[in-house]
Amino acid sequence: MAIEFRPALTREHVAESPPHLAPDPALRPQRFSEFTGQPALVCNLTTAVTAARQRAEPLDHVLLSGPPGLGTTTLAQILAHELGSGFHATSGPALDRPADLVGLLTSLQPRDVLFIDEIHRLPRAVEEYLYGAMEDFRLVILLDKGANARSVPLDLAPFTLVGATTREGLLSAPFRARFGVQERLDLYAADDLAAIAAEAARRLGLALDAPAAGMLAQRARGTPRMVLRLVRRVRDHVQVAGATIADERLTAEALERLGLDERGLMLQDRRILEILGRAGLTGTGLKALAVALGEDERTIEDVHEPFLIREGLIARTPRGRVLTALGASITGLTLDEGTLPLEA
Ligand code: ADP
Repeated sequence: MAIEFRPALTREHVAESPPHLAPDPALRPQRFSEFTGQPALVCNLTTAVTAARQRAEPLDHVLLSGPPGLGTTTLAQILAHELGSGFHATSGPALDRPADLVGLLTSLQPRDVLFIDEIHRLPRAVEEYLYGAMEDFRLVILLDKGANARSVPLDLAPFTLVGATTREGLLSAPFRARFGVQERLDLYAADDLAAIAAEAARRLGLALDAPAAGMLAQRARGTPRMVLRLVRRVRDHVQVAGATIADERLTAEALERLGLDERGLMLQDRRILEILGRAGLTGTGLKALAVALGEDERTIEDVHEPFLIREGLIARTPRGRVLTALGASITGLTLDEGTLPLEA
């Protein structure tokens, strides 16, 4: 596909440091050795990076998928660090038209990492324009219009595209097939989250005892971003209380004020359980749930559901979302257990 070249669009769509990287640079792991958890994924990525470095080749394109806050952006940066390459970040919604890619791709140095967050939100025309760049490191641009129009091939530096998505299922099969390395991040185990909390507390100068770190891990919904947020809120609470150590009592107080119960359920999760409980065994569709909650469908699917399903509180069935027997017992609802799904 050829596109019209508009030089004015060169780098305005690129953020060397996207806004969501700003809050805690000191806490973001820089190397695989500092990255806690996801052992199989880290092993696969380390092997791919080591092999690419040994061959002095660019790393194959990488697709990282999983719920938000699990570390895809962090991993993309780590890949660039470990490769000793430059890092450039943008996101699917920022790239409106194929022309938006030209300035971005032509500014890459050999073996640079180009990170595209929310890659499932790239418009189809941009996605298709990327194919040539991913496969042959080549773009075709259209100069001039009408009778004077010419298409000019443009060679690019060999680069690595790292795409992150919370919705792998929305990527077209041909696009997905162009990523040589595909890895999925899972919600973290409590032990890993406790280790992340302990390390964050150490870097923030907060004395967090082990039971308190365990409590934070239990309530962090399997998500490093959440556990880091909780560590910061506990630090505020301890400081304002004039205490020196974040123990279980102070930590529990801080968490209660944040509206997080001992399972890590937030207000919105409890409302989801109640709505599904009221619907009984008929099942509730995503749209109906979103309307009843006053919440965006994507937030329900990306943030709430993965956690509620992992905890065995709700299940997705052909009839829609339903409460499980465990979910019903938590909300105090009595449902006909014979027809409830046995597991999520
Ligand atoms: P995503 O891009 O998947 O939404 P991020 O990479 O921005 O998530 O990670 C969210 C936060 O959690 C960041 O502050 C990051 O430093 C931290 N984090 C993520 N994964 C880990 C990990 N495995 N170990 C330590 N901190 C992590």
